[in-house]
Amino acid sequence: MYRSHTCGQLRSRDVNTTVTLAGWVQKVRNLGAMTFIDLRDRYGITQLVVEEHSAEEVKQTAAQLGREFVIQATGKVIERASKNPRMETGDIEVSVERLVILNRAQTPPFTIEDNSDGGDDLRMKYRYLDLRRNPLKNAMILRHKMAQSIRTFLDSEGFLEIETPYLIKSTPEGARDFVVPSRMNPNEFYALPQSPQTFKQLLMVAGYDKYFQIVRCFRDEDLRADRQPEFTQIDCEMSFVEQEDVLEVFERMAKFMFKNTLGVEFDYPFRRMPWSEAMAKYGSDKPDIRFGMEFCELTSAAQGNGFSVFDSAEYVGAIAAPGCASYTRKQIDELTEFIKRPQVGAKGLVWVRLEADGSVKSSVDKFYSPDQLRKWAEMAGARPGDMLFLVADKRKRALSALCELRLELGERLGLRDKSKFAPLWVVDFPLLEWDDETQRFYAMHHPFTSPKPEDIPLFDTDPGKIRANAYDFVVNGVEVGGGSIRIHDAQLQHRMFDILGFTPEKAEEQFGFLMNAFKFGAPPHGGLAFGFDRFCSLFGGADSIRDYIAFPKNNSGRDMMIDAPSPIDKAQLDELCLTLTEPKK
Ligand code: ASP
Repeated sequence: MYRSHTCGQLRSRDVNTTVTLAGWVQKVRNLGAMTFIDLRDRYGITQLVVEEHSAEEVKQTAAQLGREFVIQATGKVIERASKNPRMETGDIEVSVERLVILNRAQTPPFTIEDNSDGGDDLRMKYRYLDLRRNPLKNAMILRHKMAQSIRTFLDSEGFLEIETPYLIKSTPEGARDFVVPSRMNPNEFYALPQSPQTFKQLLMVAGYDKYFQIVRCFRDEDLRADRQPEFTQIDCEMSFVEQEDVLEVFERMAKFMFKNTLGVEFDYPFRRMPWSEAMAKYGSDKPDIRFGMEFCELTSAAQGNGFSVFDSAEYVGAIAAPGCASYTRKQIDELTEFIKRPQVGAKGLVWVRLEADGSVKSSVDKFYSPDQLRKWAEMAGARPGDMLFLVADKRKRALSALCELRLELGERLGLRDKSKFAPLWVVDFPLLEWDDETQRFYAMHHPFTSPKPEDIPLFDTDPGKIRANAYDFVVNGVEVGGGSIRIHDAQLQHRMFDILGFTPEKAEEQFGFLMNAFKFGAPPHGGLAFGFDRFCSLFGGADSIRDYIAFPKNNSGRDMMIDAPSPIDKAQLDELCLTLTEPKK
């Protein structure tokens, strides 16, 4: 028996029992006659003490210990002379009678403490050491708990967990596929699934009317803080449902998870916000509604006074920043620089200061009378002491700049509290998105998304206006999940492929299997998928999903620890009928 207890287990009630612990040496403190060893495992830290009267052998072993050595210690639990109330085991220590080094350790390349001194790359390279640290350990525990509560909930609702293959044919989710060459089928490739979309739909055709899977998905995209080339979805699908049925079940699941893992309760239905409203008020399809500061369009109110920036703009909009009348020139300049960054791309920022005494000042008071400025303030719901910020541009660019500005101001004003959660459903997304560059429509969600029946006539007249039965689950400005009611009618699906620019032959080649299945009795169905890693980081109060994935990749898609991707042998290439060429510069 390696251990009788864990390092997080012993309390005063255990005093006088003889125990055996095993774990890693967190720290050794040698105080002359006595040596204190902090012994750590997954469950906590227990202090071991080697005393003056301890056996010589024990003292000698203790003298050899270094950080991260793996040891086993047997001894009696004793009451501590000076208790440590910050440690769960802080009332006791173990007086060591037998000490065994199970394995030695090199000095770790960074300190294994809550605030490590290791840089990102180093910690990624030695991920197994990083995972010993509390923040990562707690992230793994949170992830586990969330996965458990998802399974508990969905099982109780009658969902079946069914696995789908990883070696498949491309699914058109919109990103690039990772591909895998097939040795047995030379010059042919599998694609790793961007999601199990078509498979879950086929499971509906097969009659398994409630499916879920906590599943790995692969997308070859450029990476950001909340993206990884492989990530996990909670993928779900249901038959004989309408949009409201899907939202109802998964709203309950979300509430169950909030309550089960965080103790947060919502006693009200989540808000449903049409996509058009989200865009007009927040400039985003994933609005952070922890705070207000909604946009107010002032295009017509602001035009016609000879201020050419506003007069020539497609859209002029404002947000009222509460209590910001006191902002200094420098603060305003910072915000101006912020929205002029290439990523945001606004041309400038106009401000109107509403002094507490009711007077107004503005960067454009040459063009507008105080009464006009007050009128804007009133329209935007600003009060004395607030500052109005205005942006003018092409509609799309202005909305996105105002969105960035709103989030930045929210951050500066402390309105984006990580312990507060504001979930909502964004609904009624457009079915299609026009791309100017390629001069064609793309599916906003994916090609299997059903249009709203009442909008189907628009296929012939104004396809860009068709709304979809598609929805996103958004929390605190993060898109946590999304899905749709699917097309289950082969005719309509063909129409959709057609508008997306697939020739009948191409559609047949790519999706023949699905179209074929639809000929054998496809039930009405719909579903959604949650980004599990994002869900975890949101619950954990983190911005990046990386810490919630045991072995993530870095920003260039590399696994720094195993050093992948990496070249393969000539023999392997030959077997796969592959020849390599120089990468394009
Ligand atoms: N497969 C979709 C996605 O990955 C989700 C869904 O429509 O269920 O975004």
